Amino acid sequence: MRMTGKVALVTGAASGMGAATARLLAREGAKAVVIADRLDKEGEAVAAEIAKAGGTARYLHLDVTDEAGWQKTVDDVVAVHGGLDVLVNNAGISGSAEQDLYDTAAWHRLMGINATGVFLGMKYGIAAMQKGKRRGSVINLSSISGIVGQAYIHVGYNASKGAVRLMTKAAAAQHGRQGIRVNSVHPGLMPPMRTSGRTADPEQRAKTLKGVPLGRAGEVDEVAYAILFLASDESSYVTGAELVVDGGWTAV
Ligand code: NAD
Repeated sequence: MRMTGKVALVTGAASGMGAATARLLAREGAKAVVIADRLDKEGEAVAAEIAKAGGTARYLHLDVTDEAGWQKTVDDVVAVHGGLDVLVNNAGISGSAEQDLYDTAAWHRLMGINATGVFLGMKYGIAAMQKGKRRGSVINLSSISGIVGQAYIHVGYNASKGAVRLMTKAAAAQHGRQGIRVNSVHPGLMPPMRTSGRTADPEQRAKTLKGVPLGRAGEVDEVAYAILFLASDESSYVTGAELVVDGGWTAV
C-alpha cells in the first residue's frame, strides 16, 4: 500500500479528478482521506462510496476562497486525524465558457478560486504540516494552460494556472528543509469540467486531439496516479517539479 499511515486532504474532491484521487488514495491505504468541496451532496456521496469500499473518508464543506473556512477545515483535520501529511489543491473552475476572454468579473473569479484558493491551501496546510513536525507533500493542480496559452480560453485561466505553477516552486524552495515537498500536476485534455464551455464542445475537442501524440483524451485515473506518486514516499526526492500528464500535447 502506497499511502499507509497518511492523512490526506483533497479539495474539489466531489467531482472529476479530485474524486478519482480521493478514491485512489483511500484504496492505497490512506489513514484518512478528507474530501473538501462546496458540492455537499456529491462530496458526501464520494465519502460514502469510499467507506463502503473499506476506506476511511470524510466530507467537509469548504469554499477554497474562504480563508476562515480553510483555517477551520485544517484545524478539524488535525484535531480528528492527528495531523496532515498530504494536501491536494485540486478545486478549480474552467475559463472556457466566457465569450469575452477579457471579462473582468471572470478574471477575478478565476484568480480567486484557481490561484488564491491554492495560496490559502498552502498557507494553512503547510502551517499544519510544520506544526506536526511530520514530512508533508503538497500537490497543486495546474494545467497545460499554466505552461502554454490557448486561443479559446479566458486569459485569467492561463494566468491562474501559471500562478499555481510558480507558487509551487516558491513553496518548494521555502519548505524543503522542513521535509515538505511541493509539486504541480499539469493535465491536458481530460473529461470536461463541470464549468467547461468550449473545451466540452466535441468539435473543439476533436480539433485539439489532432495535436495530441497519444491521440486520445486522458482519463481521471491517469491524473490520480500521477498525484499518488507525488503523495507517496516514492517521490521523496521530487520537489518543485511540474508533472505534465497530457498525452504529449506540449511536447510537440
Ligand atoms: P470538475 O469541475 O469535475 O471538478 C472541480 C471541483 O472543484 C468540483 O467538485 C467543484 O465543486 C470544485 N470547486 C470549484 N470551485 C470551488 C470552490 N470555490 N471551493 C471548493 N470547491 C470548488 O473539474 P476537474 O476536471 O476534476 O478539475 C480538477 C482540477 O484540474 C481543476 O483545478 C482544473 O482546473 C484542473 N484541470 C482540468 C482539466 C480538464 O480538462 N478537466 C485540464 C487541466 C487541468
